[in-house]
Amino acid sequence: MPNESERNSSEPAPDQDARLYVPINDTENINVAVKTSSSKEYCFSKFPGQDHFHLLMHGEVFVTNGHDMYCVECAIRHGFLTRDRLNWQHQTKR
Ligand SMILES: [Zn+2]
Repeated sequence: MPNESERNSSEPAPDQDARLYVPINDTENINVAVKTSSSKEYCFSKFPGQDHFHLLMHGEVFVTNGHDMYCVECAIRHGFLTRDRLNWQHQTKR
């Protein structure tokens, strides 16, 4: 088994891989969708230090947990999406 102690899982890897994954424990709750109207809807989250919500654009890929909408960036920050392809190996079981 490779030694992964050099990689801190709390830091994003400098990875050019564009693939994203829903953590395997959340696949029943998390949905990814495309905004199909130009109605004003906002990401439910904010970037740290920012005081405005992100306007979701017509055609933007967003993430929903059944209640709230999140832009992809915030979804990653909240752990609804991950770039960690082997997330199921790195997560503690719930
Ligand atoms: Zn956002």
